[in-house]
Amino acid sequence: MAVLLDGKVMAAELMEGLKARVEALKNKGVSVGLAVVLVGEDPASQVYVRNKGKACEELGILSETIRLPESTTQEELEALIDRLNHDHRMDGILVQLPLPKHLDEAAVLRKIIPEKDVDGFHIENAGKLFTGQEGVVACTPKGILHMLKTAGVPLSGKDAVVIGRSNIVGKPIAMLLLNENCTVTICHSRTKDLSAHTKRADILVAAVGKAKFVTADMVKEGAAVVDVGINRVDGKVVGDVDFENVAPIAGYISPVPGGVGKMTIGMLMENTVEAAERKAK
Ligand code: NDP
Repeated sequence: MAVLLDGKVMAAELMEGLKARVEALKNKGVSVGLAVVLVGEDPASQVYVRNKGKACEELGILSETIRLPESTTQEELEALIDRLNHDHRMDGILVQLPLPKHLDEAAVLRKIIPEKDVDGFHIENAGKLFTGQEGVVACTPKGILHMLKTAGVPLSGKDAVVIGRSNIVGKPIAMLLLNENCTVTICHSRTKDLSAHTKRADILVAAVGKAKFVTADMVKEGAAVVDVGINRVDGKVVGDVDFENVAPIAGYISPVPGGVGKMTIGMLMENTVEAAERKAK
């Protein structure tokens, strides 16, 4: 039976460490602040934003949630970001995605100064990751790597297969694993014979968005399987991996819920604290 990559336990440990770092900054007279911008009424986004506020509260981070109506224009949103870029109380700015269709998401993300881009989505931070320079790393991939390292999963020289090539999960986790000297394969909807790839994987990351997509026959015995998927089935949240049947053959496995999702918020907090530490320097 696989070792559980327990996001709840790992995130709780991470939060303890961060609490001490926030305290240390406060003792030096440096406050830590995160601004979260939510446009519209998307129900899932409302939940994510609430959870981010709660995590800030737990750590003693000043959090400001700015809720804007669905009808907000590009100019209004960019003007707000401009203001937050200049607000010294705010070390991080997060624009909750997805934005309503009429808004230009890429332009909005470019507007955030890279130092305050705690989501790591700015093209400059993405570019730094791809060129091996230090920058802000996107929270979900950063959380996945943290889980693998905390559990002591060997990475160097191992075969890693990532299913999914989105800018927020698939591509950045592939780059992080490459930086750890894995041999990385990125699979997507046009990949031929997906199983042939996944069966070779020592590390398998599923970021597809399809419930129980990864089945036991696709997994190599002893592999570390990381499930990024969040799918709602009959009112329940399930991952991209058929946990019940994959867990008995995997070496490590992350559950949903209680896996990567927990780490994502933890990493957002870490990116915010790191931004404040840079400011303090
Ligand atoms: P996207 O929809 O942007 O990407 C999904 C990827 O899966 C695409 O690259 C797509 O390929 C690929 N794909 C779809 N069908 C297949 C298939 N049949 N075979 C192989 N590949 C396929 O999703 P995200 O990356 O944004 O998110 C993925 C999942 O992770 C979602 O469930 C999301 O909710 C969850 N998520 C969880 C987070 C967390 O904190 N736990 C954070 C972010 C996301 P193609 O490019 O060819 O279309």
